[in-house]
Amino acid sequence: MVVIGCGAGGAACAWRLASRGLRVLVLEAGPWYDPARDYRLHRDDWERSRFPHKLDPDEGYVIAPLQRLDPRRAPLRSWNRVWGPYEGERRRGWRYHRVLGVGGSTLHFSGEAHRLHPMAFRLRSHTGVGADWPFTYDELEPYYVEAERVVGVAGPDRDPTRPRSAPYPLPPHPLSHAGRTLARALEKAGFPWLPNPVAILSRPYDGRPPCNYCANCNRGCPRTDKGSADVTFARRAVATGRCRILTGATVLRLLAGRHDRVDGIEYLHEGATRLARARAYVLAAGAVETPRLLLLSVAPACPDGLANESGLVGRNFMETLAWTSIGLHPQPQGAHRGIASELVSWARNAPDALGEVPGGFRLSPAVAEADMMGPAAYARRAVPGWGLAHRRAMRERFAHALGVGAIGEFLPNEGSRVDLDPDRRDRHGRPLARIRSVLDADAVRRLERMAAATRAVLEAAGVCELVEEYGSYDTFSATHVFGTCRMGHDPRTSVVDPWGRSHRWRNLWIADASVFPSSGGGESPSLTIQALALRTADRLVTALGRRE
Ligand SMILES: Cc1cc2nc3c(=O)[nH]c(=O)nc-3n(C[C@H](O)[C@H](O)[C@H](O)COP(=O)(O)OP(=O)(O)OC[C@H]3O[C@@H](n4cnc5c(N)ncnc54)[C@H](O)[C@@H]3O)c2cc1C
Ligand code: SF4
Repeated sequence: MVVIGCGAGGAACAWRLASRGLRVLVLEAGPWYDPARDYRLHRDDWERSRFPHKLDPDEGYVIAPLQRLDPRRAPLRSWNRVWGPYEGERRRGWRYHRVLGVGGSTLHFSGEAHRLHPMAFRLRSHTGVGADWPFTYDELEPYYVEAERVVGVAGPDRDPTRPRSAPYPLPPHPLSHAGRTLARALEKAGFPWLPNPVAILSRPYDGRPPCNYCANCNRGCPRTDKGSADVTFARRAVATGRCRILTGATVLRLLAGRHDRVDGIEYLHEGATRLARARAYVLAAGAVETPRLLLLSVAPACPDGLANESGLVGRNFMETLAWTSIGLHPQPQGAHRGIASELVSWARNAPDALGEVPGGFRLSPAVAEADMMGPAAYARRAVPGWGLAHRRAMRERFAHALGVGAIGEFLPNEGSRVDLDPDRRDRHGRPLARIRSVLDADAVRRLERMAAATRAVLEAAGVCELVEEYGSYDTFSATHVFGTCRMGHDPRTSVVDPWGRSHRWRNLWIADASVFPSSGGGESPSLTIQALALRTADRLVTALGRRE
């Protein structure tokens, strides 16, 4: 078995296949980081460090020119107290956040471990837009339980929105001081909340220590208590003795063979192009690189790209719809301590929660994800001035930040897709993936609701001074991406079947966020990616057993 990519989906799939007795080779483009050595929280300049290897645009992808902005939507423009508002005429394409390495983008994630709302699996049936999933929440539920067990999720005793067949493996984390302030504010503003389920250990678990509440999960967790895929699924996969993870191995293309079977994979390792062959191939390089690899894998039998018989590889791209408001509270809150996202409100998360605007959103704390964490961030973004007055203002305001973020549904549309850039190439001479993303009218209306909600919660918290707001209206800055190889029953309207298997190329499977038919109402996706990957792996084992 060959698995391409060792992120959220690839690592989960590799572990399941290896623990079912198959021999697995994982080809991973990035390195295997050593959390104690490579993450920089212990250094004096910790605040300047980003995650060790976050890809910049032009390394694998570009963002196409984005849409013109409507001057009437000024309240949705990003702004900051020190720099002022964004005044460009077009939406700017900032970045698609992803990390290359064993663990993939979970290395810098905040640890949120969400299940989709059960109604999200029937989006089209409930709202008339988007697409239904080819199965229900109940079918995925046992796989959610399994993924939660492996990563070690700490969550609430009860969540009325998401039925469970087993409790979370760990109790929820206690709320920090800032968390208690926000919890009261959410209630006052009419948004019931719950402790956020997180892949962050509240007790020792699986040989890993509990969290020390440094709140810097987005810079990589040096203690390994955050359940990124490297310290959970990948570690367990290797421990089976049947899984080898080859790092620094960049897959260049898949080779289409005879009888509708993939015949091999070309990859680059230590400067040489090599070939890997297996009975089946699982593609899990993320929702931008996976369609890129398929589109690059042209052959006489598939002139439009591998598995692209429907023409839908790269289509139905969905980005993150997000809005964040940050303000300063009159009293110190210490939001730079705790876990990055300790509570969540699902009050507007169901697909029909916003009435006439289809799709929902959720609310959660935002100081850590906004990186308003240390003195440098305060000085650059929240406390203007210079010299002695600035020093005095810094002393008065440091640790006073409170933030609320909303993440919402993004519906697929005709204009949003990933294709190959005709001009720009990577250092191996291959066309870059080109991301096109369009906010439709409903997305803008959803963003208006999201901005109103984050502002209302901060006002209810007693914040009298907003210092910055930013969101998807004028900036593409995607942390969650989905949909570019949609799953479904019908080969004309989907790329893979309900199990993640190509409709035509029967030894090709996909196990990452590409297969999502819809994005959900703001849930973080990794747990769903992993539950799907486990389900795909089980089906693959069954198919091999039946010699399909
Ligand atoms: C700041 C931030 C916070 C986030 N917080 C959360 C959160 O709290 N909870 C959550 O669920 N999600 C969160 N996410 C999103 C989450 O990290 C991703 O959605 C998830 O990791 C995607 O999984 P994937 O398997 O689709 O892709 P990835 O995890 O990105 O894995 C793709 C893998 O493929 C490898 N690869 C790519 N190209 C090749 C190639 N050509 N050859 C070989 N290997 C290749 C990559 O190196 C990578 O390891 C966050 C993201 C960001 C940026
Ligand atoms: S808050 Fe906890 S999980 Fe996050 S980086 Fe710090 S120790 Fe790790």
